[in-house]
Amino acid sequence: MLMIVAIDGPAGSGKGTVARMIDERLGFTRIDTGAMYRCIALKMLRNDIALEDEEKIKEILSNTNIELKKENGELYVLLDGEDVSKEIRKPPVNSFVSPVSSIKIIRIKMVDLQRAMKDKAENIVMEGRDITTVVFPDADIKIYLTASLEERARRRYEELKESSVDTTYAEVLESIKARDENDMKKEMGALKVAKDAIVLDNTSVSIEDTFLMVKKIIEEKVRNVGRSN
Ligand code: C5P
Repeated sequence: MLMIVAIDGPAGSGKGTVARMIDERLGFTRIDTGAMYRCIALKMLRNDIALEDEEKIKEILSNTNIELKKENGELYVLLDGEDVSKEIRKPPVNSFVSPVSSIKIIRIKMVDLQRAMKDKAENIVMEGRDITTVVFPDADIKIYLTASLEERARRRYEELKESSVDTTYAEVLESIKARDENDMKKEMGALKVAKDAIVLDNTSVSIEDTFLMVKKIIEEKVRNVGRSN
C-alpha cells in the first residue's frame, strides 16, 4: 500500500525530527515543506525583494529550483543548486519566512510542487502547516503535533546553540510566538487542526516516544487496510 503521512504543527513541535525518524526507520520519503518556503524567503532577502513586489516574486517563482536531496542519510536543501541547508535556519530567514509564506502566489506554487511530489515517491511523510488541511486533506494519516510555547522555544534555542548561532532564549521565544501568530491567522494555508487529525501534545514526551506513537498509528493503519482488502 502506498501511504501518505501528513504532519502539521507549530515551530518546535518536533514534526521535522519525527518525519526524519519515519524516513530513516520506516523507509518513507520525507518532504520538509517549511524548507521550501524558507528557500523562497532566502532568495527574496538576497535579492532585496519586498513582500509587496508581486512582479519580482512571480519572476523568482518561475526561475527558482528547490531540491530536497538525501545523501548518506542527511537531507540537503538545494536552492538553484547551492546547499542552503544551514543558511535557511538562521534568524534573518526565521523572521522573514512567515510573511513570505502568507503571499498567495507563493503558496499556490509551493502547494502545486508538493502535490506533484507524491507521484515521484513511494510512501511519503510530508510535514508543514497546511498538509493535513490543504495539500493532502485525504492523506492516509493526519497528525497535528504540538507542545507548549515554552517547551518549543527551549528546543529551538538548544538547536540554535548547537549550531553556534548567537541568540538568547528570550529572542527565540519571541520569534516563535510571532511566527505562530502569523501562521495561524494567514488567509490561505493557516495553521489549524484538521477536523479528523490525531492531535499529539508532546510537551513532556520524548522525541523517541513521540515517534513510537506515530509508528503505532501507521502500523494500525496498515493492519486495518490489510483486513479490509
Ligand atoms: O516548518 P518550518 O518552521 O521550517 O517552516 C517555516 C515557515 O514556513 C513556517 O513558520 C510557516 O510560516 C511556513 N510554512 C507554511 N506552510 C507549510 C510549511 C511552512 O506556511 N506547509
